[in-house]
Amino acid sequence: MHRLTPSEGISLYTSASLQELQALAQSVRQSKHPKQQVTFVLDTNPNYTNICTTGCAFCAFRRKKEDADAYHKSPCQVMDDVRRAHAAGLTTVLLQGGLHPSVTIDYLVELVRRTKEQFPSIHPHFFSAPEIQYAAQTSGISVREALQRLYDAGQRTIPGGGAEILSSRVHQRISPHKLSPQGWLDVHKTAHEIGFRTTATMMYGHVETAEDIIEHLSSLRILQEATRGFLSFIPWSYKRENNPLGRYVTETASAEAYLRIIAFSRVFLDNFDHITASWFGEGKSAGIAALRYGADDFGGTVCEEAVHRAAGHINTTTTDEVKAMIREAGFEPAQRDSFYSGDS
Ligand code: SF4
Repeated sequence: MHRLTPSEGISLYTSASLQELQALAQSVRQSKHPKQQVTFVLDTNPNYTNICTTGCAFCAFRRKKEDADAYHKSPCQVMDDVRRAHAAGLTTVLLQGGLHPSVTIDYLVELVRRTKEQFPSIHPHFFSAPEIQYAAQTSGISVREALQRLYDAGQRTIPGGGAEILSSRVHQRISPHKLSPQGWLDVHKTAHEIGFRTTATMMYGHVETAEDIIEHLSSLRILQEATRGFLSFIPWSYKRENNPLGRYVTETASAEAYLRIIAFSRVFLDNFDHITASWFGEGKSAGIAALRYGADDFGGTVCEEAVHRAAGHINTTTTDEVKAMIREAGFEPAQRDSFYSGDS
């Protein structure tokens, strides 16, 4: 299949039936991943602070410093989270936090360094692009220098959070004070140049149009062509509860919208190896269904999580249940690491 241009992409995304998209996506998935296997990782998503000065309209997680339930953990407290992950037999910790004015690059580096020293079997999948850019700013250094310090401390992958929709129009409406779409792309590009691998995400289902989605995916595809640094694409839907944007967005994105995005991204992002389905973000039945619409990865076990929970979206599972869900979709589960390799 030839590479779709953005205008061909819009036409396919808006006009094709879900069944047509599914057939195309399954064919691409089959050629990229002929084994009937779906990967997953044993992970957890703790946070080091919920204090954030940014105030994105879609966020239910953020607290002001004076709020009764605001927190900012010391490195020792974060290591308690990592210790629990280690004791539970997990392999990856996805650690993120709000944009806190006191969080410097020294603090972030310290969390990586301690994790690598104290728990060498744990992979630190730490800090989204906005956090890294903000810590660089508060520390008076460049993003490249901040990334290099994290790399030198032993970090090798960066999660793709904070992208939302990579369109200036959407950014202005839902997160004008946060890192811009170009800024997000620049952090990932610089990270790839240093040697990091990263993931790419998309939060849809709010004020975006089909054109915005195509712009987002086109930007990812162009950067991937230049660097080959993205490991996977992970879309999830916006959750309306407990955040200001929910007053204006009257409908929650449907499971069908999710499957359309999974299938379309499988086809459009032809230079991405992995498309990740989210049992966690979308619910178990939509997560299972996504594996039949082109996704080849099932994400993590997510033992601890607070961001979706703050928006009233609570979903838990066990490793055995993850494996059972993958088998229910007709695939063999295979545990992976944070580079999406390994099949046990
Ligand atoms: S999404 Fe992130 S940057 Fe935006 S308000 Fe929430 S914690 Fe802060």
